[in-house]
Amino acid sequence: MIASKDWGPCSCNCGKVILKDAEFVIVEGAMYISGHENRRETKRMALPIRETPILRGKDARKFADNARTAESRPVPKKVYDRAQKTYSEMKKRETSERDNPPV
Ligand SMILES: [Zn+2]
Repeated sequence: MIASKDWGPCSCNCGKVILKDAEFVIVEGAMYISGHENRRETKRMALPIRETPILRGKDARKFADNARTAESRPVPKKVYDRAQKTYSEMKKRETSERDNPPV
């Protein structure tokens, strides 16, 4: 299609603008500069999760030490109370949404 006026930014996030008389396409309600519609899928696809590296030697010892220290360090009361409050608010919301599901 040919734009009858300046339409605004291309939906592929290329930063270009669909100007009057430019060729464009509409895919799933979004406007793209002609040819840019193929960038759509790759942009939205989730990134593959990288494999967890195996730690060895000094790095492994450091990691284990940090984990041990973190486990034995008490959580400050203020942080604990805030976490409890957040948890109970989430719990409340979950119950309320379960009993009154959004239509
Ligand atoms: Zn584009």
